[in-house]
Amino acid sequence: MASMIVTDPSSAAAAVHRLPFARFSNGLISLGRFVGPLHVCSPTTTLPRTLSLRSPRSSRFITASMATEPSAKVIDGKAVAKQIREEIGADVSKLKEAIGVVPGLAVILVGDRKDSATYVRNKKKACESVGINSFEVHLPDDAPEEEVLKFISDFNADPTVHGILVQLPLPSHMNEQNILNAVTIEKDVDGFHPLNIGRLAMRGREPLFVPCTPKGCIELLHRYGVDIKGKRAVVIGRSNIVGMPAALLLQREDATVTIVHSRTKNPEEITRQADIIISAVGQPNMVRGNWIKPGAVIIDVGINPVEDASSPRGYRLVGDVCYEEACEIAAAVTPVPGGVGPMTIAMLLSNTLSSAKRAYNIK
Ligand code: NDP
Repeated sequence: MASMIVTDPSSAAAAVHRLPFARFSNGLISLGRFVGPLHVCSPTTTLPRTLSLRSPRSSRFITASMATEPSAKVIDGKAVAKQIREEIGADVSKLKEAIGVVPGLAVILVGDRKDSATYVRNKKKACESVGINSFEVHLPDDAPEEEVLKFISDFNADPTVHGILVQLPLPSHMNEQNILNAVTIEKDVDGFHPLNIGRLAMRGREPLFVPCTPKGCIELLHRYGVDIKGKRAVVIGRSNIVGMPAALLLQREDATVTIVHSRTKNPEEITRQADIIISAVGQPNMVRGNWIKPGAVIIDVGINPVEDASSPRGYRLVGDVCYEEACEIAAAVTPVPGGVGPMTIAMLLSNTLSSAKRAYNIK
């Protein structure tokens, strides 16, 4: 399931405001305070913990102190993604000024799925916001596979295109593997090409691109100063687009990594040993408070709609992790929405910019 970016930034923003965040004037994110039941999880006993974390805007380490009430630090993916987009925008301008090159991203959409159309629109908007050119091809649902392959081949050869992305899922008559493999590795900004994944898995090899969502997870850990080296990490989920590459990335950063999947026995017990949890399952609130080691850092990739009569849309989005229970036990946690979701698009822009720089041998 390549390029499946399942966040809706506008609704994400609305929901984030309902969460108990606050921001200090110095840019540090406040300790989250859970003020009311947001969804179905029930609270668990509060446990004390300490953890040093760095604000993404400062080099200073801050310490989340022992507490007897919910006080996990909120890892604010929306704010970090905004910061990264600003950095990318500045770099894009510099590149243009220096050598007259504007990075370009081509997106191929097949069919009329509303969700896919929304994701493509969001990517286009994100490109515009940082000065990256976007090229879009929209084909009908019954388009032959050859037509998609022809567009990929043209984009592969086009020097103004530095990244090619095929929005998935594709209609069932198309062979997804054939299509994804047709994207040249130099423009595989999704990072799903087997050669990129293979290099990610091998010691001493460097992938040209790292898949966007897992890259966003690690970037959040870095920007919040979370130490990964030597830590125990558990990745829940092993999909090609999130779980597996997230586990490979953590391993590259010298974490000791365990992967939990649908056939794992005693997942709670295994997860409870983790200093860092990355969950990418797609099951609302699966990871409860008693799965979490006090002081753990949690990156919740899951985006799950659950019924909510009080929401104008009749539903809201929750993660794989029970947020309010995690807030009581973990040292830091990403909210859903507003955590990993915004990072995915930011990483896509980052990969496109890197690709353009690489094409002109610019560091
Ligand atoms: P997949 O369905 O491809 O993979 C889910 C993984 O979870 C599988 O490896 C599966 O195990 C595992 N799993 C399923 N049930 C359980 C269980 N009960 N216990 C442990 N493991 C389980 O999903 P994706 O990786 O594509 O996406 C995962 C979630 O992340 C979804 O909610 C998706 O919407 C979200 N997502 C968010 C993105 C973002 O930008 N924030 C981007 C991409 C995805 P097995 O392999 O054994 O079947």
